[in-house]
Amino acid sequence: MAARDTPEVPSFPNSSVARTLAIVGDTWAFLVLRACFFGLRRFDEIQKSLGIARNVLSSRLEDLVQNEVLEKVLYQERPNRYEYRLTEKARDLYPSLLAMIRWGDDWCADDGAVPLILKHETCGKRLLVDMVCSECEEDINARVVKFRDGPGAGRSPRPQKRRRRSSNPDSYEAVRACSVARTLKIIGDPWTIGVIREAFFGAHRFDEIQANLGIARNILTDRLRALTTNGILERRLYQNRPQRYEYRVTDKGLALYPSLIALMRWGDTWLDEGKGKPVELMHRVCQKTFSPIAVCHECREPVYAKDVSYADGPGAVHRSAEDATAAAE
Ligand SMILES: [Zn+2]
Ligand SMILES: [Zn+2]
Repeated sequence: MAARDTPEVPSFPNSSVARTLAIVGDTWAFLVLRACFFGLRRFDEIQKSLGIARNVLSSRLEDLVQNEVLEKVLYQERPNRYEYRLTEKARDLYPSLLAMIRWGDDWCADDGAVPLILKHETCGKRLLVDMVCSECEEDINARVVKFRDGPGAGRSPRPQKRRRRSSNPDSYEAVRACSVARTLKIIGDPWTIGVIREAFFGAHRFDEIQANLGIARNILTDRLRALTTNGILERRLYQNRPQRYEYRVTDKGLALYPSLIALMRWGDTWLDEGKGKPVELMHRVCQKTFSPIAVCHECREPVYAKDVSYADGPGAVHRSAEDATAAAE
């Protein structure tokens, strides 16, 4: 055993988004986008800022271009040089990014040591993003929203061939139409999101979640364990003799809601395959079908990337450096 290869530990900048996606999804693609949102455009700049392996960055950039989230633009001839620019589709992901940053800041930053401080130039205050209803502009949270199937609801056929990894977004999406999964197909892993989504929808028991998702039992066991460990779900005894448990969303899990509906809204807009939304959200307060809008907590204006500036926060230390040191010891 001793001589076995040590798996290479990926290193990445300390980031609330990265922390968020360490739980709800895979990270590199989103970090590349995040770097672009912060104004980086060139391969070497992005590579340096993320400390990402060149081949990994190449493959992520290629995927992002293919998914029309980035555009590869020639900026110099002889020799030809390219840079990467955010498309309109990408800019529309900004609310999701902000929502995930806020969650990571609120729940994953030790002692409030946030990695990044955002400033809303419109009002001059520190930016914290809230989600509001597009119809009545009241705050949105999990408790004031009802779900119902949209025109794009339903199931699609399972692929014949088994995928390399069970967590492959395609295998999830093949079973259940979900804008969040479609979104994470581009930016992360979806089974975990599927389980959280079921919990939000009111499915709390293993068999129920398993049946709704069409997820393999061992994968579900694995995801439930991870979600419980991460404090997103908690196990509650609901029956003695024999003992049975169900899974409930914690406050930390509930706080993921704005991120989820922001991601969902993006998938609805860009990835609905012409079929309409798989799920519609209804606001209990105004009784209308709505879209979530990201607004500034202070001035309540909608937030756009061009109005936000960034500064390192107290937790800006690169985790990679700490990890590298720890690994070397
Ligand atoms: Zn409303
Ligand atoms: Zn503001």
